Formats: sequence, C-alpha cells, structure tokens
Amino acid sequence: MTGRQRHTIYTLTLFFLCLCNKSFSQKITYNYIVDTSNVDTKKVMKLFENYIHSKPDSLYDNPYWNSDEKKTYKVFDLLERSEFQPSLYMGFPIHVLSIKSNKGLYEIKAQFSSCNDGTPYILCVANFYAKKEQGEYKLYNALPINRQHWQHTKFGWVDYYYPTYHKFDTFKAQQMDSFITELCRNLDLKPHPFAFYFADDFDEIQSLRGFDYWIGMGGEIKPGGKGGYNEIFYSGEGESNFHEPFHTLVGSQYRAHQWVAEGVATFFGGCRGQSLQWHIIRTNTYLKRNPDINLNNLLSLTTVDEYTDYRYVIGGLIAKKIFEKGGWSLIKEFMNSGQSNEDYYKAIEKYVGVKRNNLNKYLRQQLEIESTK
Ligand SMILES: [Zn+2]
Repeated sequence: MTGRQRHTIYTLTLFFLCLCNKSFSQKITYNYIVDTSNVDTKKVMKLFENYIHSKPDSLYDNPYWNSDEKKTYKVFDLLERSEFQPSLYMGFPIHVLSIKSNKGLYEIKAQFSSCNDGTPYILCVANFYAKKEQGEYKLYNALPINRQHWQHTKFGWVDYYYPTYHKFDTFKAQQMDSFITELCRNLDLKPHPFAFYFADDFDEIQSLRGFDYWIGMGGEIKPGGKGGYNEIFYSGEGESNFHEPFHTLVGSQYRAHQWVAEGVATFFGGCRGQSLQWHIIRTNTYLKRNPDINLNNLLSLTTVDEYTDYRYVIGGLIAKKIFEKGGWSLIKEFMNSGQSNEDYYKAIEKYVGVKRNNLNKYLRQQLEIESTK
C-alpha cells in the first residue's frame, strides 16, 4: 500500500487514543438536533443507537443494516474497511452533530472522539444514511449514495469513479488495461474486476466514503491512497496508478514478505506518483548525507522522508536486480520466498548473492550506480 506519510501519523495517534479509551463504552450524545419531536427523526436516532450498541465491529446479519448491502458486501458497513483498524467501533464516544433529511433519506453526521485531560481528540466525523426498507428504517453506506454524483466509466477490468471536473483519459485507461493483462500473464494470475476511485485530492475520496473529517487529514496534497481486493482509492495520478492494482491483483496468491510485495509493486508500478528511479535518486542523496545509517539492518528502517519509505525504494531496487538477473520466473520465486524477516534476508542472499552483513556496502553502491543511469 502506498498510504501517505500522514496515514502513519494517524495510525500512531489512533493507537494512542485506543489505549486511552479502553474503559469507555460507546456512549452516544447529541448536539442540538433540529426537530427531535418529529416521529421519523426519533426513529432514525433510535436506529443509529441500536446499531452502535449491536456490536457493529462483528460480522453477522445485523438487523439495523439494509439487506441489499448485506448481500453485496461481506463487510457491509464500508466505514469498517477504512483506515480505522481493527474497527471504527472501539468504544469512542459518539456525538451526533446533525440529522438532515431529504425526501425520506436521512443523513446522520456523527463525530467519534474522546476527551483527554480536557482536550478533545476527534477521530473522525462520519456520515451514515438511513431510509425505509419495507416500511422500516435501515442504515445505508455513504459511498454508493455519494457515488451517484461522480462520473463512472467501465474500461476493461476496471470500474473508474471520478469527480465531474475530470475528463476521462482513455489513453491512460488503455495503459492500465495493458498493465493488468501483462502482469496477470507473467505472474500466472487470473484477472478480476475492481473499482478504482480517484480524484485530485484524497480528501475528496474520503468525503465520498462518508468522512467529513478523519484524523490524519491535512499536509501537502500529494499522490496516495489504499487498495483492497476489489476496490482502490487513490488520489493524484488519474487512471494510471499501477502500484495499487498490483497489490489488488496479486492479493494473497504469493507468500511474500511485505518488502517483497512493496518492492515488486514499486519496481513495476512506481510509488506515490513517482517512478522507482525517482525514489532511488532521492534516497541516494539522503544516504550520502547520513553515512551512519546501517543498511545491514534494513528491516528496522522505515521512513526516508515524507515522500519515500525504505521498503519501496530498497525493496524496489532489490526487485529490479532480481528481474534483471532472471526475469519473471525469478521474480515469481522471489515472491514465494516466505514472509518472515529471516526469509527476506535469505531471499536476498539467494537471488541477489549478497549476504546480510554486506548489504550496507552493496546497496549504497547500487543506489549510486542506479542514480546516475
Ligand atoms: Zn504498496
């Protein structure tokens, strides 16, 4: 995945907040709600409360969610597939900010937050929808509702969803289609359809998914996003981001260390809107300024700066070396070389011919050579 730097910050913050919130039950309070005397508004409030108290973090036939989405999606509450892992519903007190209705469709705007030493920490402001299904109010996801206001083009295996200001680029979509065909042929994979949501700014995608605010929002706008088995959310590259489709198509069909997956994805698909070469040049400059960084302990290193991470650039460089040596067949072996850290170091030794205690020297040399190509 190529989540932006701010996602990392958010994960850490979330972890901290979770630790602080273990003892809370998921309490629901209301801001000033217009028209609480309305019978339907009351029903929607009750529906939301029932859902929150029905263990929404567990997968079962939840009676408060609509049946169509339960049939369509395994994890039917799509907010549960967001960055909030393991779950959005971990006991954060919920404050309902507003309930708005439009011809029988209700929008519930809910703030998930906690208060530590008098300072409020807002995890997110999320929108839920409610409308009647066979006479009873049920909850609905924001994404399929908001998506109606976006454009949609199906091209090959991909359903593209994008904002109205964007003009669809058929050339880029064709490039994506060729990428999918080639990749699947070379890695013995069966292509499958997936949805690709893109916009100029990731916040537009978050808004589409139902988040008005999420912890980690802010910072310089740059390419980034995330993907799963059948959907990708990515900003800043239009139709032709290849990194996330790589993960989506490969899925769990190879048993690889995370650095193998990220490295091969970056070698073939670039990362965060830039090519592997771009990341190599940037990292080479950085490492020359920091001679004390020891690449023998590669897997203990994480972030180079807000634009690149070691697993992409070093992982990508190693994948490049292996591909140059043995093409796709060696890449396939490498991608099945096991998932532990030890497996990764062993695979480098086996396929690149460099022992762990020589990695620092070797990788610094190769970064310099590749930088000047
Ligand atoms: Zn990735």
